Amino acid sequence: MKSVLEKLVGKSKALERAIAGEELSLKDGMELINYDNLHMLGAVADSSRQKQVGDTVTFASSYYMNYTNVCAASCQMCAFYRKGDEDDAYTLTPEQIEQRVVLAKKMGATEVHIVGGFHPKLQLEYYEKMINLIKKNHPELHIKAFTAAEIFYLSKLTKNSIKEILSRLKTAGLDSLPGGGAELFHPEIRNKIVRGKCSGQEWLDTIEIAHNMGIRSNATMLYGHIEKPEHIIDHLIKIRELQKKTNGFLTFIPLKFSLDNTELEKEKLVTHECSSVYDLKVVALSRLMLGDVLKNISVYWVAFGKKLAQVALSNGGSDLVGTAFSEEIYKAAGKPTNSSVLELAQMVKDVDRNPAQRDTFFNILRKF
Ligand code: SF4
Repeated sequence: MKSVLEKLVGKSKALERAIAGEELSLKDGMELINYDNLHMLGAVADSSRQKQVGDTVTFASSYYMNYTNVCAASCQMCAFYRKGDEDDAYTLTPEQIEQRVVLAKKMGATEVHIVGGFHPKLQLEYYEKMINLIKKNHPELHIKAFTAAEIFYLSKLTKNSIKEILSRLKTAGLDSLPGGGAELFHPEIRNKIVRGKCSGQEWLDTIEIAHNMGIRSNATMLYGHIEKPEHIIDHLIKIRELQKKTNGFLTFIPLKFSLDNTELEKEKLVTHECSSVYDLKVVALSRLMLGDVLKNISVYWVAFGKKLAQVALSNGGSDLVGTAFSEEIYKAAGKPTNSSVLELAQMVKDVDRNPAQRDTFFNILRKF
């Protein structure tokens, strides 16, 4: 006998397929992203979430650190980068970074998330020293560092293969890669939002090499700027296909584009941030397109704000990423951050779900 939800979704073949747990095609994805009943879409995504991961909402205690804002690239979507001669350009030494890690531990972080610009002068030894120093002095901390885009840049800069770079960083103590730098893979859009960064295929190839070496990673997607619906679906399918090959992604994090101080804003190519309705659609779509092979769909509350993040948890989201202590990148684009595990736990309780602090690999550390 059909459930109420099954009867209600009868008008959409793609939603019927989603509710039956079938893999959704590009055509299905397009039908769903253009589907006008957000409540129905959200309800089906929520039901899939319930089947795939249950009612627990996870988050990590993370400390975010940006070792440099100097960047050889100049992405139109970025408010963070500086050229080396600008007054507020900075680069931390490995010792300064290690000092911040001491602070991270005091704040209760279980992982450090370290990313930065494409510094044209820093050599591989700098990165090895940074990781090694942290690992030697804080072996219990998980080091999640350097996006696939940074690894790719470093490989080009130092003329070492990606495998060699990753291997040396792994030996130094690198535990996993964050999911940044993915943006949107489709070249029609990518070439208009990034300048001087690897292509979508190069990002995917770099991540595949990492996964094959046992270095797991997150995956992200930057949306809400100049993309069309098909670029979102294309991105999700590419993540899904790679996950089916490697099973190396830990979570998928859709990142809402933050407008302030970016070239896209200055050039008036984007005049306002996308609507909350669109945000919720993207979260729901992420769940429906990916959830079977990548069950953790994260809601980045830093970009959404806490209230919308709570709603997104009822539209397919199952994770809040983390505390994001000291997050500089969204701060540069007008979104200051900071939240304790207790605040995140309360956010989850407020929407009648079960909060749990996790480690980077999604092992549960603490329930509330
Ligand atoms: S997004 Fe990353 S690569 Fe692009 S300009 Fe900003 S810091 Fe540099």
